[in-house]
Amino acid sequence: VVDLVIKNGKILLEGSLTNGGLAVDNGVIVLIAKDPKLPSADKVYDAGGKTVLPGFIDLHVHFRDPGYPEREDFFTGTAAAAAGGFSCVGDMPNPRPPTTSVEALLEKRKTAEAKALVDFALYGGTGTKNILAIHALVRLGVRAFKTYMTSTYEDLATTSYGSLLDVLELVSSFGLPLMVHAEDQSILDFEKEKVGKTGLKGFKAHANSRPPIAEEIAATSALLTAGYVGAHLYLCHISCVPALEAVRRAKMKGVRVTAETCPHYLLLTKKDGEKLGPYAKTNPPLRSRSDMEALWTGLRDGTIDVVSSDHCPYTKEEKDVGWEDIFDARPGMPGLDTSIPLMLTQVNRGSISLEKLVELYSGNPAKTLGIYPKKGALLIGSDADITVVDLAKEEVIKRDKLYTKSKMTMFEGFKVKGIPIATFVRGELVMQDHEIVGKPGHGKFV
Ligand SMILES: [Zn+2]
Repeated sequence: VVDLVIKNGKILLEGSLTNGGLAVDNGVIVLIAKDPKLPSADKVYDAGGKTVLPGFIDLHVHFRDPGYPEREDFFTGTAAAAAGGFSCVGDMPNPRPPTTSVEALLEKRKTAEAKALVDFALYGGTGTKNILAIHALVRLGVRAFKTYMTSTYEDLATTSYGSLLDVLELVSSFGLPLMVHAEDQSILDFEKEKVGKTGLKGFKAHANSRPPIAEEIAATSALLTAGYVGAHLYLCHISCVPALEAVRRAKMKGVRVTAETCPHYLLLTKKDGEKLGPYAKTNPPLRSRSDMEALWTGLRDGTIDVVSSDHCPYTKEEKDVGWEDIFDARPGMPGLDTSIPLMLTQVNRGSISLEKLVELYSGNPAKTLGIYPKKGALLIGSDADITVVDLAKEEVIKRDKLYTKSKMTMFEGFKVKGIPIATFVRGELVMQDHEIVGKPGHGKFV
């Protein structure tokens, strides 16, 4: 008798959907078989003929905990994750205090362990000022570091190319990836001043102040420096053609780069931004239709490896001030609740295959953190992190149905087809039919 059997599913195995189920014991997959061959179990979940996939992993979330409980916390953030079909998330190092020291990491880990419904990785924050903490953070189990080429966060900023070489070299000496926000601060400063003189204060003003060339120069420099020291670079939220082309060239030269984009760059353009105003303000900004189309090509041809939400919640007030002056609104929006329904809709439309989606949301994220195939795969011995999706179910995205504390989305009113209906984390059902059924504290530090 095992702990759990999931039966009557369509399981994605080696690229095709096979009828059957799987058995789980002690949180691990012990058997994948046709239903009649499954053992008896304490709990049985009938998948009702729906699709059974490896649990999704979002490598780019900002849970604001500790420090900004009004925006999000580890309970509401992981509830949004579970509801959205994610069994694991990677949390960025910019709450208050930033995760740049042993004390800050231990505090965050304690907070997260008490509240999380799904498993979580915690990234170390690094930059010119915090390079010395890297070694200690690695010893505490940090599996990636994040830095900004912009000066947005003083403690997380890498302020020169020399310093970037240094940080990349040190992080990669531990075999870990460095996640980089790539926009060039000197161009941002220059363009913002220019925009300031025009008196423009709407969405366009912000978008114009962060042109593609700022991303291209920073991404290209990061790729060159990573290639030079042989480091593993993780380029966050690629949004435009020139940055994508830089990744393509670097990959051909053998640079070790994992490239990420987000659903909002794949599904929205600056035209949408003009309607959504501060609700579409994010860094880098939404781009043009041709950028969007190129990103889809990049997904299909393997230039882009990972799609993340860049789940970045703020309070309504922190966004609404931007209707007067876009520069007063905070940049970023939540996305965990909505990413998978939006992307499954694209699977249904034939934009990408289901197998590709699983690669982007399970296999590649797990490989990036060095935890594959413990996570990110349906294999004997893998953690029983499992997401069941109903590919035929249709819904409309509505603010009031979201689990994120901020109750905001760039995709209000979007019709979606393809919904996660159950999320298991190491064999525990944490979400069923959009209800949170897991217990806070189930989520473990990865
Ligand atoms: Zn981010």
